[in-house]
Amino acid sequence: MSADETSKYGTTLPLNGDHNPHVLDDDGDLLLAVGTASEQTTFKVDASALRRASPVWKAMLFGPWAESKPMDGSKWVVELPEDDVQALTVMLGIIHNVYELVPGPDKMTVDLLWNILVLCDKYDMARVLKPWVPSWSQHIKSLKEPDTNEKMMFIAWELGDQCWFESLFGSLVLGACVNGKGHLVRLGDGFSFGDLITLTHLGPDSLLDDITTIRQFLITSLIGFLNTEVELRLSETTSETNGQHACLHKSRACDDLVLGGIIRATLNIQSTMHPKDATHIKMSVDCLQSMCSAAFEGLSTYHPHIRRGSSIAHFDCNPAKRFSKFAYEMRIEAMSKIIDIVKSDRYNGRMAKQREKLGWNCL
Ligand SMILES: [Zn+2]
Repeated sequence: MSADETSKYGTTLPLNGDHNPHVLDDDGDLLLAVGTASEQTTFKVDASALRRASPVWKAMLFGPWAESKPMDGSKWVVELPEDDVQALTVMLGIIHNVYELVPGPDKMTVDLLWNILVLCDKYDMARVLKPWVPSWSQHIKSLKEPDTNEKMMFIAWELGDQCWFESLFGSLVLGACVNGKGHLVRLGDGFSFGDLITLTHLGPDSLLDDITTIRQFLITSLIGFLNTEVELRLSETTSETNGQHACLHKSRACDDLVLGGIIRATLNIQSTMHPKDATHIKMSVDCLQSMCSAAFEGLSTYHPHIRRGSSIAHFDCNPAKRFSKFAYEMRIEAMSKIIDIVKSDRYNGRMAKQREKLGWNCL
């Protein structure tokens, strides 16, 4: 490519407010005005390149619509106010073979790839990304940016990357909180997952419900463990517990000590002593599990006065170790539920089609 051509296309993405069209094809017959008025960027493109790349553009530009070529010889201009300029620049670069506009893997960001995939979904043109998808996704997977997990999950969905999707699904289940309206939100900034889905329509329809179901299973399990430990010590001699002691050495003093410690700790977890209903818990599964772990590990254990070497310290009466094993097994079960959900047709049916379009096997 000559110096002039390099200058024409530029090595960076178009600047906002530039009224000169960015020429992707000198002989282009169509002007695309992308973005809103204050940040609009215009591209001179070949309408046939768009037609070949996307059935949606084909219908839009060559069908009986307002966007089709004017019959009076005036300029053919199509406005795309909702499209992201940077993402569309990359897509137009690909379909016009202007690869200077296509970022290498190390330049790809979560936001840019997400916006590109939103456009791919809108215009049904995932297949044109075929050569770039493996290196882009490999780079994005290597980024350690927990705040972008939701967007990464949609990227995995649109790329049909089932394993990556499962892993991110699990992260969201464990990390999601619930706000005052009962909506799933990100810890910290309160970002609503529902807003993202409404905005882009990427992801399966049942995603939020499925996240909520697994999250409630985990919260219910954790709270259940806590409640059982309390109830065992509250009603040692009732028929409910068959008169069993929680203490391995049948000591009431030991049970009372552990019970007091659990109550003190659970008062810090929720205002109520031990909520039975998982829907009352707004914090994330990760937070709840950490708080329960800390509560159990912080319990004092019973140390009776040693009399002639016959008494035993009640270290094993602390539920901390049992809780740790329980929480581990609970997470394995949750992950198994997630894998089953993602393997189902309503998830993997679409992802398998995307893999086929993109021509890759990421499994
Ligand atoms: Zn004991």
